[in-house]
Amino acid sequence: MSWKLKKKYHDLVAQEEGHQKKIWGELLTVCLAYPNYYRTGMSNLGFQTIYALINREPSFLCERIFLPDPKDEVEFTKGSIPLFSLESQKALAEFDIIAFSIPFENDYPNILKILSMAGIPLAACERSETEPLIIGGGVSVTLNPEPLADFFDLFLLGEGEEILPEFLALFEDCRRLRENRSGLLYKSQKEIEGAYVPKYYKIHYHDNHLIAKMEPLQSSLPDTIKQRHVKDINAFTTDQCIITPHGEFGEVFLTEVSRGCQRGCRFCAAGFLYRPARFRSLQTLQPSFIRGINRQMKIGLLGTAVSDHPELLSLCRHIMNQHGKVAIGSSRLDRLTGPLVSLLKESSVETVSLAPEAGNQRLRDLIHKGITDEDIFHAVELLIEHGIFNIRLYFMVGLPTEKGEDIEAIIHVVRKIKHRTVKSSAGKRTFKRITVSINQFIPKPATPFQWYPLEDINAVRKRIHTIERSLRKETLVNVIYDLPKWNYIQALLSLGDRKVGKILLAAHQNNGNWPKAFKEVNVNPDFYVYRHKSTDEILPWDFIDHGVSKQDTIDEYNKTLQN
Ligand code: SF4
Repeated sequence: MSWKLKKKYHDLVAQEEGHQKKIWGELLTVCLAYPNYYRTGMSNLGFQTIYALINREPSFLCERIFLPDPKDEVEFTKGSIPLFSLESQKALAEFDIIAFSIPFENDYPNILKILSMAGIPLAACERSETEPLIIGGGVSVTLNPEPLADFFDLFLLGEGEEILPEFLALFEDCRRLRENRSGLLYKSQKEIEGAYVPKYYKIHYHDNHLIAKMEPLQSSLPDTIKQRHVKDINAFTTDQCIITPHGEFGEVFLTEVSRGCQRGCRFCAAGFLYRPARFRSLQTLQPSFIRGINRQMKIGLLGTAVSDHPELLSLCRHIMNQHGKVAIGSSRLDRLTGPLVSLLKESSVETVSLAPEAGNQRLRDLIHKGITDEDIFHAVELLIEHGIFNIRLYFMVGLPTEKGEDIEAIIHVVRKIKHRTVKSSAGKRTFKRITVSINQFIPKPATPFQWYPLEDINAVRKRIHTIERSLRKETLVNVIYDLPKWNYIQALLSLGDRKVGKILLAAHQNNGNWPKAFKEVNVNPDFYVYRHKSTDEILPWDFIDHGVSKQDTIDEYNKTLQN
């Protein structure tokens, strides 16, 4: 059967443009793993960036692996075929390093699946000298790596362009000096800012399960791990190095135009993690634009706060003057202007997403969103005026202090938006649809909301159903939402400490049966998810310097208590 899988991987790679296939032999080898399916991983610009970065190093080759499709998974789990890489179809166990790119907590169970299918011991302490080094990086582990601490040899925290080349140089040196695994890990922890080797840190707990302290096992190692930031994002470009017909964005060529955001929305981990806001100049971006336009692809401008880019209009005009088209990942609704919407329309953009987040001013002030009802209505009218008739609205439920009247406010504001859109589109082409996307607020590490609990998922389910029921009769309005039951797991993996790794392992051993895992492991998940935490306690991720002081974060949190 394995020949079918080999052919499938071969065909997938054959349809790509831009992958690299270096010759095995003298080179050091990295298998870059994305803990989700090919389609999702190949649409992640961070993943593609790391692939290009490693392959740029003359001494290294980098290949890829994704979570196998469900029907192929059976083949690998039977144990007869160990998981193999896409490019050279080498077993993962043959690589020197397996590097996981991890943007989302929901993918943690897939990391254990991939290691199991590769026949590699899950626990870092059980791996021998001959087994690959398992390293991880990405947004979610930079926020809080602790639930994964038992499974990884090393984490690289922060922006890959800054930290990864240093680690690869050290790895190469250690190999030349025939340093063993422990020697390499010790040097990484000691010499590389942003490296975190969990086995060198011990956590002490109080009787009430709160963390008493976290300390390095050797005095020569740092108490705090500082996440790395790129200082000058104009020194390089970040764009799609591999183009595939099987990605999520089809004919869109992804390029990053900005990183970081200064707006300070209190729920937004990306906003706090990537500070300060940094913008790429037209001069830097031009080669990326040309690459995309030459392939007749639409240029997808990505970033944490694209619409705050001071030259956004010029960037769009520049692309269009070269007969290209533009797509924007997301835009703050108060940054939409007539000329910008007009350019989007010219680029055949059919749908624009707006994020009011909350239905009334009280909650929008609490989350520090900085927009008003009038901003929302103005944005919607601008879109209609320019002939964009599909609008997607993002709202959160389960926000701190939320009451029934706040849910009513969402329903009310959607009705008002619909009323305004229908009125504005009178005499023009028929208005098509408002899609209302409802997501539960999940507290994230390193944000001012990190001390708040997740709202009870059953209460949230009822609130979502209230919104759905109330808007069901509204023609042209469609309500979509995620199942709140996964939000509990996401919050647990987001806010947990090392003990949560035991639950994750049990869930893996029980084929994803989380209720059974909760019963088997003597760790109370509600302690992490449903508990309102005190600003005095040591949080599992407090040993990471994310770039914003704890006191500043507490001050922001305290402001929300007065609301
Ligand atoms: S504007 Fe957007 S990116 Fe910036 S902090 Fe707010 S939600 Fe995050």
